[in-house]
Amino acid sequence: MVVAMEVLFCIMIFCMGAVFGSFFTLTVYRIPLGLDITHERSFCPNCNHRLEFIDLIPILSYLSLGGKCRYCGQPVRIRYLVLEILSGIVFLTAYFAFPIHFPFLEASSLCLMIAFVMFYITNAIILGIDKEYIAIEKKVLLFGIVTQTIYMLYLYTFEQASLIFYLIFLVMLLLLFSIDTWTLKKKNKSLYLIQIFMLFVYEVMFIQDWRMILGTVIGSCISYSIYRIIKRKNVPIGFCIALSSIISVLVGNLIM
Ligand SMILES: [Zn+2]
Repeated sequence: MVVAMEVLFCIMIFCMGAVFGSFFTLTVYRIPLGLDITHERSFCPNCNHRLEFIDLIPILSYLSLGGKCRYCGQPVRIRYLVLEILSGIVFLTAYFAFPIHFPFLEASSLCLMIAFVMFYITNAIILGIDKEYIAIEKKVLLFGIVTQTIYMLYLYTFEQASLIFYLIFLVMLLLLFSIDTWTLKKKNKSLYLIQIFMLFVYEVMFIQDWRMILGTVIGSCISYSIYRIIKRKNVPIGFCIALSSIISVLVGNLIM
């Protein structure tokens, strides 16, 4: 009975991840265009037909329609399906990587899980936008910093965690944000390198464990090199860092 419940719980977690995956593709498309991400319904980018609830079920909608738009028959990019499945796998891996074991849900592990989901959302949207536009979306990064601050305050209040390490990096982030605002005013454009620094400081601030930070650095170098060989120029460095951070945190927690 417990095993059956646990399997059911795993399926639920996978589905939740898939829903997030479908949300990411929407945000990566909409945020850079300045479109609303929560209220407006999705539409087909080809025929502009508004998508109904039945068209928006992750994975199943894609498979049941054979990867085509229900209204105009235009093929839907397979990347949507792949991202939904990958996102489901990330959620499932996180479930096993963090000390959360159904049905014993403690407040501390639940909060850790929520903090990871916020970290994952931040990185997934950042990597998607960076891959398309070679730019770090600061609004998304700010979302990550604010949610992490709330989590750190929780740890400080209820689990007597030290905030020193966190505060040092927060100050660094504030400095980088100021430099970025200054260059934006002075030169009318943001410097990609400063954005990359901001992203990296955010990752270090969240991860905190030096082994996983090392994993992120190595992963970033490897993915950067692979990208460089394939694409040669305009490599999305933020994409490499964000992707490596997610993998490093998951793998790190899984084996440690
Ligand atoms: Zn269509």
